Amino acid sequence: MAAATALTCTIVLTARAEDEPKAASERGAKDPWYRRTYRWGQTNITEIDPARYDIDWWRSHWKRTETQGVIINAGGIYAYYPSKFPLHRRPEALGNRDLYGELAKAAHDDGLAVLARMDSNRAHEDFYRAHTDWFGIDSAGKAYRNGDLYVSCVNSPYYNEYIPGILQEIIERTHPQGITDNNWSGLGRASICYCDNCTRRFQDRTGKSIPKEQNWNDPVYRLWIRWNYDRRLEIWDMYNRITKTAGGADCLWIGMNGASISGQSGSFRDFKEICSRAEIIMLDYQSPGDGGGIQDNSAAGKLVHGLLGWDKLIPESMAMYQAGRPTFRLTSRPEPEARLWMLDGFAGGLQPWWHHVGAFQEDRRMFRTAEPICRWHKANEEYLVNREARATVGLVWSQQNTDFYGRNNANELVDLPMRGIGQALIRARVPYLPLHADHIDRDAAKFSVLVLPNLAAMSDDQVAAVRRFVKLGGGLIATGQSSLFDQWGDRRDDFALADLFGAHSVKSQSNSSDATLRRRAGETLHTYLRLTPELGARAYGPKAGNEPAIAAERHPVLSGFDETDIIPFGGELEPLKLDDKATVLLTFIPAFPVFPPESAWMRQPRTNISGLIVIDSGEGRVAFVPADIDRRFARDNLPDHGRLLANLVRWAAKDKIPLSVEGPGLVDCHLYTQPGRLILHLVNLTAAGTQRAAIDELIPIGPLKIKVQLPGWSNYRKTLTLVSKQEMPTTMEDGWISFELQSLLDHELFVFFSGK
Ligand SMILES: [Zn+2]
Repeated sequence: MAAATALTCTIVLTARAEDEPKAASERGAKDPWYRRTYRWGQTNITEIDPARYDIDWWRSHWKRTETQGVIINAGGIYAYYPSKFPLHRRPEALGNRDLYGELAKAAHDDGLAVLARMDSNRAHEDFYRAHTDWFGIDSAGKAYRNGDLYVSCVNSPYYNEYIPGILQEIIERTHPQGITDNNWSGLGRASICYCDNCTRRFQDRTGKSIPKEQNWNDPVYRLWIRWNYDRRLEIWDMYNRITKTAGGADCLWIGMNGASISGQSGSFRDFKEICSRAEIIMLDYQSPGDGGGIQDNSAAGKLVHGLLGWDKLIPESMAMYQAGRPTFRLTSRPEPEARLWMLDGFAGGLQPWWHHVGAFQEDRRMFRTAEPICRWHKANEEYLVNREARATVGLVWSQQNTDFYGRNNANELVDLPMRGIGQALIRARVPYLPLHADHIDRDAAKFSVLVLPNLAAMSDDQVAAVRRFVKLGGGLIATGQSSLFDQWGDRRDDFALADLFGAHSVKSQSNSSDATLRRRAGETLHTYLRLTPELGARAYGPKAGNEPAIAAERHPVLSGFDETDIIPFGGELEPLKLDDKATVLLTFIPAFPVFPPESAWMRQPRTNISGLIVIDSGEGRVAFVPADIDRRFARDNLPDHGRLLANLVRWAAKDKIPLSVEGPGLVDCHLYTQPGRLILHLVNLTAAGTQRAAIDELIPIGPLKIKVQLPGWSNYRKTLTLVSKQEMPTTMEDGWISFELQSLLDHELFVFFSGK
C-alpha cells in the first residue's frame, strides 16, 4: 500500500508542473457558479418528506460525495416553503415549515451552489377552479389533465404572471444561484391547445386559426409547430430576465432538457437555440430508450456539447434508483450499471448529478454508488472538463429532420439510423462526434468524413455546406433518403446531393411509395443484399490445385466478406437511376418466404437495384447507401451490418482516424485535447448483461493494444493512467504512441503530456 501511495503522490506532483494549465479546482473563485460547480446532487422531495427529512444526514452525504451544488424542490405544483401565494399548494406534512429554505441555507453554509427546483407544468383542482382560463383545453373544450392534476397553458397568465411572481419570491427569500424547472415547456405536440389565449396569440402572429388536427402537409400546422417552439424560447428569455433582475446577472433560469431529440421535438424545445442562449445545461436523461445501451450516455454528452461548446458544463441527472424500463423509484439501480452509466457520461463530457426520489430510503445500497465515483471525479476533474473533443468522423443531425421528416415515427426514421452508425463506430473503436447540420462549415476542419444517417430533410444551405466539405476533399457517407426532402419535409424531385451520390431518384416514384417506405422502416422483411463482384464458385469450397480464378478484386469496403456473396438485409429498396461514375457494391435481393423451409429460395437472385454506391473522384470519397443498414443495425444488431458501416467510414475517411484499439470486448473510446495534453477515456461496456439491461457484473477485458496519434507534437513527454495510477511505458513511431493495457475493468483515463 505504501508503494502505491507514494506513486500516487509522485503523479499528482508531476501532473501539475508549472508549465501546465492550472487544475480546474484552482480556477479562480471569480468564475461564476455555472463554470465551477462540477458535481451535483438532488433529493427529490416527496409530499411526506417534510416529516422525515434528516438534513444533517444529507449534509454529510453531500460531503461524502464531494457535491458542490444541489437541486432543491422549491415551488410549482408544490411549495416547500411558506409562499405568499394562496393557491401555491403546500404538502400537508410541511405545516408551517420552510423545508426548502432550511435546505438552501444548509447548502449555502456548506459552500454549495443551490438551484431552486420548480415544476410549472400542472396544478390541483382548486387552482384550476380559480383560474380555468390558465389551463390548456382540447378541441372539445375539455381541460387537459395528467392524473388528478390540470395542465397549465404556456400562453396564459400562469406563465406570464403567476410563475414570475413565484420566481421572485423564491429568489428574495433564499438567493439561490439559479432556478431549474422539471417540466417547463407545457403541453407537448400531441396535445393541441385551443384555449382563448392560444387562439388569440396564434391569430395575432399568423392571421390563422389553430389547426384542427395534426397534418404535417398543412402549412398552417407547420406554422403552429414553429410558433410553439418560439413561445418556449420566449419563456426561456423572459424567465432569465426575471431571475437576473431579482437575483443578479448570474442568477440563471435554466429549465431542464432531455437528451433525446425526438423528446425535445415532442416538447417544442429547440435544442440548438436553447444552447445558444444557455450558460449551462441541466440534462435530465436517466436511461437509454428501448434498444439503446450505456453508450448512449456519452453520445448524448457529445451531442449537447456540440451545440453548447466544450467550455461549458452539462450536469446530468443520474438515477441511483432503478430508472428506465422498469422503473422502481425506491430500490437501488444495480451498482455496476449505475457506475457504467455515470462513467460513460463522464467520457462524453457530462458531470455527475446523483438523484434520489425521497429523503428516506430503505434500500441503502443506493447511497453507496455515487461516493467512490464522485471522489474519483474530484481527484481527476481537471482532465474531465474544459477540453475539446478530438474525432475525425462527424454524424450530422438536425432537429428539423426529426420534426418534418421523422414526423410521427421519428424513432424509426431518424433516431435508429443515427444510433446504428454510432453503435457501429463504437464497436470499431472509431471516435466520432454528432454535428448539427447548421454547423458543418463551422466545424469542417475537424473532420475527415461526414455521415448523413438518413438526414432526409435538409435546407439548401445545409446541402451547400456538405457540397463544400466534399469539394475540399472530405469524405461523405449518406444513407437512406438523405437530402431527398426540403426543410419542411416536402419531397424534392431528386436527391439534392444526387450529383455527389451518382444516383438519382426515379421521378415516377410518388408520395405513396414514400408512405410504403415509411411503413416498411418498422418491419423486417426476408430480403438480402448481394455483394459485387461475386466470388462465386469459391463458396462451394476450392478444389485442390483447381481454384477458380477471381474475376476482380473486391472493393475495400467489402473487406471481411470474402467467404460470402450475400449478407442479410431486412429492408426494401427501389430502383435508382445511376450516373456512369457510380460503382455499385451491393444489389438488392427481393423478399421470399421464410416458411415453410422448402419454399425458402430466392425467386429473384439478382436485380440491378442498388444498395450501396461508391464514387472515388478527385474530391472526397463518397458512399451512398440507399439500403437502411444503419437502421437495421440499430434494430437487429447483426454484425455484418456493423462491419460494413465501419468499413465505409474507414474508407471514406481515408483512414484518417487518430486511434486504434485492438483486443476483445465492447469499448467506448473518447479522445480530447487540452493545452499540452491529449486525453483518452476508455469505458469497458463488456458485461454479463451487455445485451440486456440490467448490468450486475463487470467483466475485465485485455490485453488491449492501443495506438494514438499525437496532435503534431514534437515534444511528447509521458503517459499517465488515472484509474490504475501508473506511468504507462510507450513506444513512439511516426507521431503515433503505442502501448498495451493489460486489463480494463470499468474504465481507464490516459493523459498524454507534451513539454519538458
Ligand atoms: Zn392554450
